[in-house]
Amino acid sequence: MGFEYREGYLYCENVCLKDLQEQLKDSGIFPDSPVFVYSKDLILKNVKSYQQALNSLPNDTGLNFSVKANTNPHLLRILRDEGCSVTLVSGNELRLALQVGFTPSQMVLNGNGKCRWETRLALETGCLINVDSEFDLKQTIEVSKEFNLEARVLLRINLNIDAHVHPYISTGMAGSKFGIDEEQLGHVMDLIKTENHIKVFGLHCHLGSTIQDLTAIRLCLKKLKTKLDESIDIKYINIGGGLNINYMEHVDDTQCIDHEDDQILKQVEGKLKDLPSNGFKIDHQKYKNKQINRRDWIKKLKEHDMLPDCIPENTTPSIKDLISTVEETGFHHSIKIIVEPGRSIVGNTAVLLSSVLGCKTSGNIRFIVTTGSMTEVLRPSLYDAYHHIDFTEPVEDSTRHLYNVVGPVCESTDFLGKDRFLKTPHEGCGVAVWDVGAYCSSMSSNYNCRVRPAEILVDGSSWKIIRKPDSYEDMMSAYEYQQ
Ligand SMILES: *Cc1c(COP(=O)(O)O)cnc(C)c1O
Repeated sequence: MGFEYREGYLYCENVCLKDLQEQLKDSGIFPDSPVFVYSKDLILKNVKSYQQALNSLPNDTGLNFSVKANTNPHLLRILRDEGCSVTLVSGNELRLALQVGFTPSQMVLNGNGKCRWETRLALETGCLINVDSEFDLKQTIEVSKEFNLEARVLLRINLNIDAHVHPYISTGMAGSKFGIDEEQLGHVMDLIKTENHIKVFGLHCHLGSTIQDLTAIRLCLKKLKTKLDESIDIKYINIGGGLNINYMEHVDDTQCIDHEDDQILKQVEGKLKDLPSNGFKIDHQKYKNKQINRRDWIKKLKEHDMLPDCIPENTTPSIKDLISTVEETGFHHSIKIIVEPGRSIVGNTAVLLSSVLGCKTSGNIRFIVTTGSMTEVLRPSLYDAYHHIDFTEPVEDSTRHLYNVVGPVCESTDFLGKDRFLKTPHEGCGVAVWDVGAYCSSMSSNYNCRVRPAEILVDGSSWKIIRKPDSYEDMMSAYEYQQ
């Protein structure tokens, strides 16, 4: 099920999103606010994929959902009921996990800087603590002594591996703020040997997010195994998360662009100038007659290694591929393997629904302005990330143009997508931004005094509100300002 078009209308499972939007509008609860819509079925499917793959390993395994990807307790509850544990990055995430009812023994509190109350809470609940540095270790020891509690720790190591992801989400290379450098590991182990409040349960490594290349993970696993062979008393290996999802999955490769929009042609021509004369020739006439489609065009550009930035490619491995890599490494069967994905469990399970406010042009750039913006979907502005965008209903236009899809926020970096092949929509037309289940609602903000939007969970033909939108009053209450 998930998201699919039926006769021109986008559905989430059996719910027509246009109808849903109308209903919300009529109810008066959400005047014009965008909404996140999640498919329960997709969440369950992703969890099953991980569980099936993990069950094929000879080892005991643990599936920890990385809560920072999505903190909605209703969604966490589903994951708990499906048997997941959680990886947390703050004391309040830990409180949230306890409130949802996760069992502490396999929870992991991660963090390159923890306040004492956060470490204390982790020790009191008995969850695993990822020790990130010598100073973090010292704090863990101090707090465990002060309250006479045993610390069960994993050592997060930086193995200096390039995961080939955007630098802002790369965490496993030398120079990263995360983890203990490999060379310092021995020293940290020595410090622990003399302490009886602390017990090392295992090693942890998380290379970064949106990983598309299993080579880095393979290397990381090999290095972890070597470390393990050197040290006897370790029970767990936590391989982190980071698997990408295919953000390009819904792109229709066969779409043609209108020849009036010749920016892409210009881009290509610009690149062509640098090519040797025996290089790639674009058939201008064919292109101008709209004969060249996106797929052919990408293929040609790829062959010549000149894929423009506006056309990202995607070669995402499957969950099964990832776990096969673990199997290949051949960890001893007594070792428990923990994986902690966020994005690959919830990323593809939601769309952001918004509507068109209007269209405009500036210079030779065309814009579609929607009610959705960077305050709901920050990833394009933050990481230049690609999210597929399309309308939720039929649009009467015979041609497509190159559009930048933007929101109303007062920042030029407020865009949801650039250079998209879209028809010219009517005012009020429904717009969906795909794959916003991870790192969108959890990163949403009140910038520009915008209210964080509602979240809706679809289950078959029914839906329920799992988060109300903020009200103006909610947003202002912390100021305690009286007129
Ligand atoms: C963010 C994070 C993850 C999850 O990363 P995804 O890319 O969402 O799978 C896993 N482990 C740690 C330590 C993290 O900080």
